[in-house]
Amino acid sequence: MIAAKGYAGFDAKSPLKHYDFERREVGDHDVLIDVLYCGICHSDIHTVRDEWGGAQYPLVPGHEIVGKVAKVGAKVKKFKVGDKAGVGCMVNSCGECEPCKSDLEQFCNKGSTFTYNSLEDGKVTQGGYSNKIVVTEKFVLKIPDNLELANVAPLLCAGITTYSPLKHWKIGKGDKVGVIGLGGLGHMAVKLAKSFGAHVIVFTTSPKKVEDAKRLGADEVVISKNQNEMQKQLKSIDFIIDTVSAPHDLKSYMELLKRDKTLCMVGVSPEPHEIASGAFIWGRKSLSGSLIGGLAETQEMLDYCGKHGITCDIEKITMDKVNESYERVLKSDVKYRFVIDMQASAL
Ligand SMILES: [Zn+2]
Ligand SMILES: [Zn+2]
Repeated sequence: MIAAKGYAGFDAKSPLKHYDFERREVGDHDVLIDVLYCGICHSDIHTVRDEWGGAQYPLVPGHEIVGKVAKVGAKVKKFKVGDKAGVGCMVNSCGECEPCKSDLEQFCNKGSTFTYNSLEDGKVTQGGYSNKIVVTEKFVLKIPDNLELANVAPLLCAGITTYSPLKHWKIGKGDKVGVIGLGGLGHMAVKLAKSFGAHVIVFTTSPKKVEDAKRLGADEVVISKNQNEMQKQLKSIDFIIDTVSAPHDLKSYMELLKRDKTLCMVGVSPEPHEIASGAFIWGRKSLSGSLIGGLAETQEMLDYCGKHGITCDIEKITMDKVNESYERVLKSDVKYRFVIDMQASAL
């Protein structure tokens, strides 16, 4: 076994703290990565605080992982020691079902193995708030050389979560795209939709975010509490990506879509939303959802971001600041992702 150290949650209520644990030996198809940076995703907080249920402690969160390859198994072809490498939300899947064969490992019929709090060979997986991780080659991603490594980390979740639906619904030049919420996911949705040539409208409850939304590329910013501003967008939008992970009024956004268009949810709310069927019936509209992206599409997204120089806006922290950073995430007091600098941290 390989000795690893990091920070873990030990129950739903206590702060994360130091944890010594073991990674498996490097198998023939495995890659050992020295973790250099790991982003803090809102899902980490939901999971470690058991807000979605099923938390298994000790629990090392983190699924926005970048680092350098330290060792490769005998049959590994894609990577060599010293290469930059990334790991996102999944570390394995069955590989044989229809979704897996369609490069949609996130929808594996047997359940994908997620990077943390998931079972793999009878052991619970542990995430990237740690100095080392061992992952099978297929689930390790190549990182474009020209991008700042720390700013790449959140692309592995926030980036692909917003890239995938924009591609699936074929967003391109001339489309009007609404982005609800300007946090980690929202700011990536703005950058990506803009780079695809869309006209981007950000919906936020916070007037303080107007200027920043425009800096990130938004063409318009609507304060969602302002009925007049909302009315001006009625039946005018081609696609809405909803990044908010708390219940909110979906009907008022469905009304902004043109006929036959879709609102896609990417924020996982612990409580259900309330919405009446009339919101879809009038205008034959769709309410949909999207979950990260498969391995091939995640690699495509990273390559695209490399080509277009797109990364996340981040605030670097050391591991000892992780608990206070969680509180700041909950207050949306971060632009726009915290990233833990593993080498600067005393683990
Ligand atoms: Zn995430
Ligand atoms: Zn499968």
